[in-house]
Amino acid sequence: MTPEALKALVRTVPDFPEPGIQFRDITTLIGHAEGLSASVEHLAAKACAGGAQKIAGMEARGFIFGAAVAAALGIGFVPIRKPGKLPIDTIGIDYALEYGTDRLEMDPQAVAAGERVVIVDDLIATGGTALAAAELIRMAGAVVEQALFVIDLPDLGGAEKLRGAKVAVEALMHFEGE
Ligand code: AMP
Repeated sequence: MTPEALKALVRTVPDFPEPGIQFRDITTLIGHAEGLSASVEHLAAKACAGGAQKIAGMEARGFIFGAAVAAALGIGFVPIRKPGKLPIDTIGIDYALEYGTDRLEMDPQAVAAGERVVIVDDLIATGGTALAAAELIRMAGAVVEQALFVIDLPDLGGAEKLRGAKVAVEALMHFEGE
């Protein structure tokens, strides 16, 4: 399936979770057998070209695509988790949201020094989540040069923010506007 055909499988829900937000819902994409496998194949090809030695995905929707990409490439997967979920000593990073802050945590032993880790998530909006994930993985000693998304919302500037942190960004599709 082409990226255009995959884009047609994403459901847009207006005013969720707040008025004015166009929620790009991947439920309909992952519920479509060919849509799911083609999304994973496209992402895996890009991660392979980027020399991925490990895939990292952010809770929760990054787990769906990230773990599938890692399995397709025969490499390991690193879950970047919400606070308090991992049963071991973690490293964490707090990052700013539009209102308030949030936190991501990971197992510092999940990556080796110098290992090439590619970030995978469903969507990049402001880039705050992906940037925090990149910083966290770098804190653990690994190398992050690429982040892959199913959906980019370019008008929110997240991809540019990541590129400013020396992370190459690619997405299977773009939705203009918010
Ligand atoms: P951000 O940190 O702003 O790049 O937000 C990224 C995360 O928020 C992604 O992992 C998405 O799951 C979610 N998200 C943000 N905006 C949207 C949107 N318009 N539609 C669907 N998910 C969104």
